[in-house]
Amino acid sequence: MKTAAPINLYDLTRPELSAQFVRWGFSPVHAARLWNYLYLALADSFSAEAMPDLPEKVRARLRAEASLGHLPTALETDSSDGFTRKYLLTLADGERIETVLMRFTGRVTACISSQVGCAMGCVFCATGQMGYTRHLTPGEIVAQAVHVARALRVGRTVPGEPRLGEDASPYPCARLRNIVLMGMGEPLHNYDAVMHAIDILRDEAGLAIAAERITLSTVGVVPGILRLAQEMRPLHLAVSLHAATQAERAALVPAAKKWPLDELMAACRTYSEATGRRIFDEWTLIEGKNDSPAHARAVGELLRSLPAQVNLIPLNPTTGYDGAPTHNEAAKRFQKILADEFKLPSTVRQRRGIDIAAGCGQLAVAAEAGSQ
Ligand code: SF4
Repeated sequence: MKTAAPINLYDLTRPELSAQFVRWGFSPVHAARLWNYLYLALADSFSAEAMPDLPEKVRARLRAEASLGHLPTALETDSSDGFTRKYLLTLADGERIETVLMRFTGRVTACISSQVGCAMGCVFCATGQMGYTRHLTPGEIVAQAVHVARALRVGRTVPGEPRLGEDASPYPCARLRNIVLMGMGEPLHNYDAVMHAIDILRDEAGLAIAAERITLSTVGVVPGILRLAQEMRPLHLAVSLHAATQAERAALVPAAKKWPLDELMAACRTYSEATGRRIFDEWTLIEGKNDSPAHARAVGELLRSLPAQVNLIPLNPTTGYDGAPTHNEAAKRFQKILADEFKLPSTVRQRRGIDIAAGCGQLAVAAEAGSQ
């Protein structure tokens, strides 16, 4: 007889965990304690030592029918500047995903994946070059944040443990407060699982990541953006624009053929009006491709009437795409045109972890090729 797969506890919201305990005949009080062990103590086993306030009969049931959804680390690497740590994590079926811990000024951010591979096929992206394998479950998404939270805790409390960025960073280890869904995959292609995971990540009795500190990056899946608006989910929405005309955009982002630029702009306006949130437009700067003053003016015109901010990101080179990152001078010139002529705020994102292949999908590709 086939035995049921264990319940991944990270798949469950707090009410779902409580309901499961009632089904097992246990008190919801024990469910509340388990929740604290999962997300406050970041427990990594069902042992009496890890969960001292749970009776043995409860822990025995958990051992028999539940799992902590661990994602063993296949590969872990730190950037030379000490600000970025990248993990290649193994799922229960042997597939691998990438998760990145980043330190910016005064904050720690986890960049997490939503799929194994990606179906969107952006030409410059290592994950897109890899193709789509499968969606992640909510528990597999949440477990990545827990993995990073554990790494921070270890960095802070274990004597003698090498601390991430200890030599290079002036910033102390901190609690995980920011999540960006910019790892492998298109989050809105896996809408239900991603939103379920976000509900768990936001729970104030758990990791308590505020909605405005969760960035969801999309290539422009119009039905997903409209659904976010309808459900009034006030996330930090980042749209991968990269070009300001339909033809140029479709050449970089094949998904634009399905969801054309005018429909995407209309969906962004709907989301912004429904939630009161500004839209963050990502623009990967590729030398000679989309970094000229004319390109800057085209994006300025496109976004003229939208509450928007542009994040300019010099290309992270990948082996599968013959493009180079824009030089600093050209990036600054682009930014100045947006500011002076369109009063459009923008940032030039610092390129973190280039030496550890921090662009999404790059570590998985490198590991596959046996080059790490
Ligand atoms: S950039 Fe994002 S949406 Fe595009 S292929 Fe890569 S992972 Fe997918």
